[in-house]
Amino acid sequence: MGRVSGRSCIVTGAARGIGRAIGEALLDEGADVCFADINGDLVAEVAEANARRVHGNGAKVTHAQVDVADREQVRAMIGHAVDVFGKLDVKFNNAGVNRPMNFLDVTEDNWHFIMDINGLGCLIGMQEAAQQFIRQGTSGKIINTASIASRQGFDNVAPYCASKWAVVSLTQSGARDLAKHDITVTGFAPGVVATEMWEEVDKDLMQIGAAEKPGQAMQEFSAEILKGRVATPEDITGTTTFLASRESDYMTGQIVMIDGGMTL
Ligand code: NAD
Repeated sequence: MGRVSGRSCIVTGAARGIGRAIGEALLDEGADVCFADINGDLVAEVAEANARRVHGNGAKVTHAQVDVADREQVRAMIGHAVDVFGKLDVKFNNAGVNRPMNFLDVTEDNWHFIMDINGLGCLIGMQEAAQQFIRQGTSGKIINTASIASRQGFDNVAPYCASKWAVVSLTQSGARDLAKHDITVTGFAPGVVATEMWEEVDKDLMQIGAAEKPGQAMQEFSAEILKGRVATPEDITGTTTFLASRESDYMTGQIVMIDGGMTL
C-alpha cells in the first residue's frame, strides 16, 4: 500500500516542472492521477510515459488540456477525471506563470495575465473542486502552490508576488468557508526550484536589463539559501504527497514553506 493508494488526484501545470514531479510522486505512492496543463500535447506525452512507467501497480493515469483561468475548461477537466477514476479526492492548483517587468513598466496586460492564471485560476480551481466534493458527499483536499514570493516582495516581479500573496489569502479564506463541508485547504511555498520556468524568467530579466546571463538570478539566490543550493522538483514532492495523504487530515489553512531556509 502506498501513502496515497486509491486517492484520485488532479494536478494542474503538470506537463513539466513541479507539477509533473507532484503527479509522478503521487503515482509512485499508489494514487490515480490526472495530469492537466494548457500544453495539451506535452501533458499527453507526460501522462502516456507515466502510464507505461507505473503499468501494473494498479494506479490509473489520465490527462486533460485545460486553461485554469477558464471555468468551463476546469469543469470539463474535473468531469473527465471523475469519469475515469469514479471520484475526486485531491485537487492541486499548481499551474502558474511569471513574466518579470520593472515595477514602473508593469502594464495592465502583464497584471491581468499573471493574476488571471495564478490568482483567478486558483480560485476557480478551488471552487470547482469543492463543488465536486460536495456533489460526491465526501471530504476532499485542495492544495495550492504558493511561493516564497507569497511572503516577501522581490525585484521586478510585483504582479507575481501579488498573485502569490493572493494564493495564501485564498488558502486561508477557503479553509474557513469550506471547513463545514469537510474540505481542507492547504498550500506549500517553494523557494527557488530549478525548472524551465527559470529559463523564461531569465530571458525576461535580461531583456529588462536586470540580469546579464542565464542562471544569474538563481545563482544569486543560492547564496541566501541555508541548504546551499536551489531545490529540484523532487525536493518538493515529499511534502506534496504528505499534503495529499490522510496523514495531513487535521491540517487546514496552512502554507508549508519548502525553501531550504531561504527566509530565515
Ligand atoms: P513551469 O513553468 O516549469 O511549469 C508550469 C506549467 O504550468 C507549464 O507546464 C505550463 O504549460 C502550465 N501552465 C501555464 N499556464 C497555464 C494555464 N493557464 N492553465 C494550465 N496550465 C498552465 O513552472 P514551475 O517552476 O514548475 O512552477 C509550478 C508552480 O510553482 C507555479 O505556480 C509557480 O509559480 C510555483 N513556484 C515555482 C518556483 C520555482 O522556483 N520554479 C518557486 C515558487 C513557486
